[in-house]
Amino acid sequence: MRTLGALAVCCVVAGLAGGCRSSISGEPPPLVVLIGVDGATPEVIDDLRSQRKLPAFERLVRAGTYGPMRSLAARRLLEEDTRRRYASPILWTTIATGKVPEKHGIRDFVLPIQGTASVWMGSEEDPPRAALTLPEVVGREPFTLRLRIHSYRANGEQTVRLAMNGKELPSISVPVRWAEMSVLIPENTLRPVQNDLTLTFSRQAVPAEQGDSSDRRLLACELSSLSILDAGGQVVYSLDPVDERFSLGRGFHLPQGKLTEVQSVHWRALPVWSLLGSLGHPVGITGYWGTWPAYPVNGFLVSSRMGMRDHRQDGDRLTWPPELAERLEPLAPGQQELEELLARLHYADCDPPLLDDKTAVKKILLQDEFYFRIARELLPSMERGLFTVYFRSVDLASHVALHWRHGAELRPGCAETVREIVDQAYLQIDAWIGELLGILPERATVMVVSDHGEQPISGGGHHAPYGIFLASGRGIRSGEIFHGASVLDVAPTLLHLFAAPIPLDMDGKVLAQIFEGPWLASHPPQYADIDTSFTSDEEAQAEGNEEILEQLKALGYIQ
Ligand SMILES: [Zn+2]
Repeated sequence: MRTLGALAVCCVVAGLAGGCRSSISGEPPPLVVLIGVDGATPEVIDDLRSQRKLPAFERLVRAGTYGPMRSLAARRLLEEDTRRRYASPILWTTIATGKVPEKHGIRDFVLPIQGTASVWMGSEEDPPRAALTLPEVVGREPFTLRLRIHSYRANGEQTVRLAMNGKELPSISVPVRWAEMSVLIPENTLRPVQNDLTLTFSRQAVPAEQGDSSDRRLLACELSSLSILDAGGQVVYSLDPVDERFSLGRGFHLPQGKLTEVQSVHWRALPVWSLLGSLGHPVGITGYWGTWPAYPVNGFLVSSRMGMRDHRQDGDRLTWPPELAERLEPLAPGQQELEELLARLHYADCDPPLLDDKTAVKKILLQDEFYFRIARELLPSMERGLFTVYFRSVDLASHVALHWRHGAELRPGCAETVREIVDQAYLQIDAWIGELLGILPERATVMVVSDHGEQPISGGGHHAPYGIFLASGRGIRSGEIFHGASVLDVAPTLLHLFAAPIPLDMDGKVLAQIFEGPWLASHPPQYADIDTSFTSDEEAQAEGNEEILEQLKALGYIQ
């Protein structure tokens, strides 16, 4: 089985061709702690700082460089739904890889499980047709087009005419049952890029008129996969209709498929901890988005499912090494501690209660408390290397209550104190950061980042384009305010802290401006032609993911 961790070692070592060095000679190897606070927002932090409510954060700001960090808008998601524009899993993967979503492969909150996706076709045009553009087809002619397709039952078997770049291909007879159809593409029909394929249908029907359901769509045929093979039978292009839904043109309805939360097998680029691990730096990862199933690293990895109580019971591959999960289990907070947390953060101040039993907030609060305890347990074991911990409750609190912080009218039955829900979430995380700073050696470098900010909307809050960047430690300017960081820059800057070369295929840059001049002069950033792309051989795992999909639904991220 090929894994993220194992692959990292060979590709990086090969890429560096023996030129790797793990630290600057004469200096102790660095210890860097990256704290991820989902949804932390510059405006709220500035307000709380002015009230002197964030002592740990203040300490880091005074000792380091701080400012807003530009998020990355997923424009194609924006067209579908503005709430999802700055989507956490996409952004956290960008932070970990230094790459744009097109390269790292995480382009939505949920991704399809291979082979489960399909899309209905049908249109108002006469005759009905569906069109799509195949981005890139490179191989040896002649090519073959292969489709897995069936005709809507009410249409019966029908003839579908195909055209590539305006040239007719042989038409196909599509049955009512799923069938695999192959069509030879005449030579010189395909272009290397941007090929327009049109399917023209002889019949379509509306389910509602067949008495099937209330579905009012025009349905001609359903497509589950489309691929192009070259002369040697090699697949040179393949379209999964859910994964590639942005390539679908007119005449396609919304694709459907069995979806799962983002998993480590979906990543198409190596995270910074795999790169550092392959250079001999120890790493410790706690709760980072999309890290389940856990994979080998040079240290430990507590996956993104470890924080979910229901998953820990019978889950596997929760941690690396695998036996770590058992050691951490006793740290999990219980129901009583959850009630205390809810009361402290003022979630309990409404009648009827603000949160019902199914709400995601409770689970996320328990998860954050658990990840904090895990960090407190494991951080002292690290004398050098990269440690990360991820907290999500500020994002959750902002979704629920940011409008009340900004003066929106309270729900009947809610006490004035619910206006403090958001502030209390920040205060809680500040307290956790304070405790972690207390156990860190003085020489440690600390970075606190968020993936996006939040803005008030009617009924709550949702994602906004600026999060935060804060770094404090050796060589970093103190007391500086810095504008100009982007989520793309975190991974290259982390690598630079370890004097590791920055792969040229990363889209971000080293944030040179945050470093002191003399330090930067003696530590010039190095770049290297390293390929950090990655493809897992594993398929996404379907089981146990309903709970996560429910959470994402509850937050309005998916329908
Ligand atoms: Zn959010």
